[in-house]
Amino acid sequence: MKILVIEDEPKIASAIKKGLEIKGYVVDSVLDSDTGYSYAIDPTYDLIVLDRMLPGKYDGIALCKNLRDENVKTPIIMLTARGTIGDKVEGLNSGADDYLVKPFSFEELYARVRALLRRPKNTVGNVIKIADLTLNPISYQVTRDNQTINLTNKEFALLEYMMHHPNQVLTKDMIISHVWNEESDILVNTIEVYIGYLRNKIDRPFPELANLIETKRGFGYVLRSDN
Ligand code: CA
Repeated sequence: MKILVIEDEPKIASAIKKGLEIKGYVVDSVLDSDTGYSYAIDPTYDLIVLDRMLPGKYDGIALCKNLRDENVKTPIIMLTARGTIGDKVEGLNSGADDYLVKPFSFEELYARVRALLRRPKNTVGNVIKIADLTLNPISYQVTRDNQTINLTNKEFALLEYMMHHPNQVLTKDMIISHVWNEESDILVNTIEVYIGYLRNKIDRPFPELANLIETKRGFGYVLRSDN
């Protein structure tokens, strides 16, 4: 899941980015509203953390209104130093989905991020289940046929993205834009390499079970729930 942080205080911005990255999210962080708007308009973000007071053409409220006017539906958590009822109402009226008053603990932000990220249909509690494969985004546990599978951070992020979109063709560009951030200089070949790693862990060790990852040559990859 890919998150955009628009926050002009570098210390806060980097603490949020690092915290979310440790939790396995892909994070882009920008420090002013003009850059923020040009990033936020990109529909590949799954969530935006938006500071209210920002340098640049817009403040957080105006930025949020403009995004909603442009029909960008990405969930937004607004951060602010002002915590009166009127401020909260103004923030929520501008189109923000949630509102967090500074100073806040990272745990609280993280809890709200998780609450806002839409759960896929095939979720039981926190666990996503596709065929006989399960993924727990809180404990980072992955199992197939009740056997634990150990994945690296990136493999986990890739599998989580695919499990949110089962039976859909995911192009390499879609995978790159949801699983890697803007700073990473990634080649499309790298996606093939990572898909290979995942196959070695979730399909190869289970020859008696149907393969879950399918290649649609010339298009991309599908995670099948209906084999
Ligand atoms: Ca600020």
